Amino acid sequence: MNATDRALIEQNQLFRDMDFTSVEYMLERCSERDLAAGESLLQPDVPNHHLHLIVAGRLSVRLAGQESMEHATLGAGECVGEISLVDGKPPSALVVASEPARILSIPHDTVWSLVNHSHEIARNLLGIVAGRMRNDNRALITSNDSRKQFEHQAYVDALTGVHNRHWMADAFARTMHRCALNRRPFTLMMADIDHFKRVNDTHGHLVGDITLKTVARTITEKLRPSDLFVRYGGEEFVMLLPDTDKFNALMVAERLRKAIEDTTINHGDLSFQVTISVGITPTQNEEKLDGLIGEADQALYRAKELGRNRVAIFG
Ligand code: GH3
Ligand code: MG
Ligand code: MG
Repeated sequence: MNATDRALIEQNQLFRDMDFTSVEYMLERCSERDLAAGESLLQPDVPNHHLHLIVAGRLSVRLAGQESMEHATLGAGECVGEISLVDGKPPSALVVASEPARILSIPHDTVWSLVNHSHEIARNLLGIVAGRMRNDNRALITSNDSRKQFEHQAYVDALTGVHNRHWMADAFARTMHRCALNRRPFTLMMADIDHFKRVNDTHGHLVGDITLKTVARTITEKLRPSDLFVRYGGEEFVMLLPDTDKFNALMVAERLRKAIEDTTINHGDLSFQVTISVGITPTQNEEKLDGLIGEADQALYRAKELGRNRVAIFG
C-alpha cells in the first residue's frame, strides 16, 4: 500500500472517527486491485468473501434482473459488499466500475477481527449497513411513487382530469355487481356535447378544449361522490349512478343538462354556452357493460334526433 492509497484508505467510512494506525497492521492480508471502466467487481449470485473499500474512482450498482438500470453510484471513501458480509449470502446486485477504480478488498474474517478489535469499526459498519438500507428504502419509495404516477396517467384523462375509458371496465363492473347483489337499482348515462364540432370550427381547438374541461368540471360538481364518471371519447361522457332508479336518474340527467346550459364558457372576450344531450338506461340486473352502453347510446341518439339539449330514456 503506497502512501497516497494509505491516506485515502484512512479516510474510508469504515475507519471514521478512530485511530487508523491502531488497526493498520491487520490489513496486511488485504489485496489492492485496479478495475478498468466497465469491469465488474460483484455479480449477482456469485459468492463474495470480501468487503471492498473504494480507494478511488466510481462504481455503479445495478440490481439483479434490472442490470440495465443504475440503482446507485458509489465513490471513493465508500464500501461495497457489506450485506454479503453480514448475511453470508451472494450479492443481489451487479457492481461495475463506471470509471477506472481502485479497490481495497478485505477478507471477511479480517473484517470480523477488525470488528472484534475496535468498537468504532463495529459502529461504522452498522452505520454503513443502515445507510444502505435507507438508500434502498428511498429508491423503493421513489419507484413506488412513479409506478403510482404511471397508473394514474393510464387511468386519468390528461385534458379534463376525469377518469378515462381504461379505468371504466373494472370500476363500473364492481359497482354494478354490488348494486345487483344488494338488489339496488342503478343507471348508466351517456352525455354528448351538442354541435361540438361547431365550437372547434368557430372558435378553434383550444377553446374546444376549454369547453370540454368546463363541461367535465360542471358534471363532476353536480354528481355525488359515489357516482362514477368517465370521459368516454372526444366529447362524450359516461356516468354510472349506483342506487338510482329511473325516476331519480331522470332528475339527475335533467339537472346536469340544465347546469351545462346555464354555464357560460369564457375565454378572453369570448363568452358562449353549449348544451348536452343525455341518454339514460336504468336497470336492476347485473348486465354486460357493453350492452348498457349500447342502450344509453341508443337513447342518446334519440335525444339528438328529437332536437338535442334534452334527456331520453332507453326503451
Ligand atoms: P352532435 O350534436 O351530433 O353531437 O354533433 P357534434 O358536432 O358534437 O358531433 P361530432 O361527432 O360531429 O363532432 C365531435 C367533435 O369533437 C369532432 C372532434 O374534432 C371534436 N373533438 C374530439 N375530441 C376533442 C378534443 O379533445 N378537443 C377538442 N377541441 N375537440 C375534440
Ligand atoms: Mg356531440
Ligand atoms: Mg359525439
